[in-house]
Amino acid sequence: MTRPLKNLCEIAVIGGGLAGLAAARHAARLGRLVTLFEGSGMYGGQVATVDEVDGLAAPGHFSGQDVAIHLLEEAQKAGVHVVEVPVAKVSAGEKLAITDEEGRTYHPDAIVVASGASLRKLGVPGEEEFAGRGVSRCATCDGGFFRDQDVAVIGGGDAAVTEALVLARLCREVVMVCRGPLKAKRVYVDRLDARENVRFVWDNEVAEIVGEDEVAGLRLRNVKGGATSELACAGVFPFIGVEPNTGFMPAKLRTKGGHLEADGGGNTSDRRIFAAGAVRAGYGGNVTQAMSEGVSAAEAAVGLLAS
Ligand SMILES: Cc1cc2nc3c(=O)[nH]c(=O)nc-3n(C[C@H](O)[C@H](O)[C@H](O)COP(=O)(O)OP(=O)(O)OC[C@H]3O[C@@H](n4cnc5c(N)ncnc54)[C@H](O)[C@@H]3O)c2cc1C
Repeated sequence: MTRPLKNLCEIAVIGGGLAGLAAARHAARLGRLVTLFEGSGMYGGQVATVDEVDGLAAPGHFSGQDVAIHLLEEAQKAGVHVVEVPVAKVSAGEKLAITDEEGRTYHPDAIVVASGASLRKLGVPGEEEFAGRGVSRCATCDGGFFRDQDVAVIGGGDAAVTEALVLARLCREVVMVCRGPLKAKRVYVDRLDARENVRFVWDNEVAEIVGEDEVAGLRLRNVKGGATSELACAGVFPFIGVEPNTGFMPAKLRTKGGHLEADGGGNTSDRRIFAAGAVRAGYGGNVTQAMSEGVSAAEAAVGLLAS
């Protein structure tokens, strides 16, 4: 009788952001056969385009790509197999199954879901039409196109403020359009206050992005009285929060908001499935936590396989 082949994917890690990379590296170093799925073709997730990651538990200045590539190389050295295809579906029946977008199916013994979150869209007319023609979600990548021009950053959280700081070094004027008070950390806000070419439009949201071939401006709506106004700008950078990437997960594991329901150790209601980082409900939101959650989830997955 032929013996069944050893399962080449004991632990599957979904997502090549910092949580997933840390999880994959750790599980492989603990001796497990690990397959990492990354769907975007770029490692580092939300910090993939950040030129200086703040709050890393290491001295020095590193970009998101520096950190991600370092983790990826170490993960691969430890034997992690990488599949650069998005996961289309996870089934949590008697046997776990992962189907990727190219139709291949894998049967891991445990899954660490670290698929994080994606920047939320404004959902207004002009957003899709002008994508890449004035609408951008990366100041580091695209800021240079708006050198000495006026741009608008939409949002008031950490991501909006840190991206505005990048743009303020390049652009003539950066207008921050905020629906309410800033939610960003004090240290970022102080840096923004020190820039003379940054101004704020409070209590407003974007109603429409306007232009002909490229963005020419915004139609704004006051959230308190509904009055509309125009703002001329060549670039628009929306950073109005993130939405979890969980559409491929069984609905029973998701919260109403779409995050995965899991405790701080990453345990979900299915003992074979663990969640780490920004995909998890209750996640605190920084890279150090993302990596540490990745390590904890990997340990829990390895522990399950050993039991
Ligand atoms: C603009 C910006 C700047 C930030 N700057 C900082 C900072 O300086 N310091 C800091 O501490 N925090 C920062 N943050 C927050 C930080 O990026 C996140 O908290 C952290 O990166 C979350 O990591 P994660 O691995 O959990 O998720 P993510 O970074 O969201 O990574 C998820 C990964 O999963 C992949 N994925 C998604 N769906 C699938 C699928 N179906 N199949 C396969 N792969 C999939 C994605 O492509 C992505 O690579 C910033 C966030 C933003 C948006």
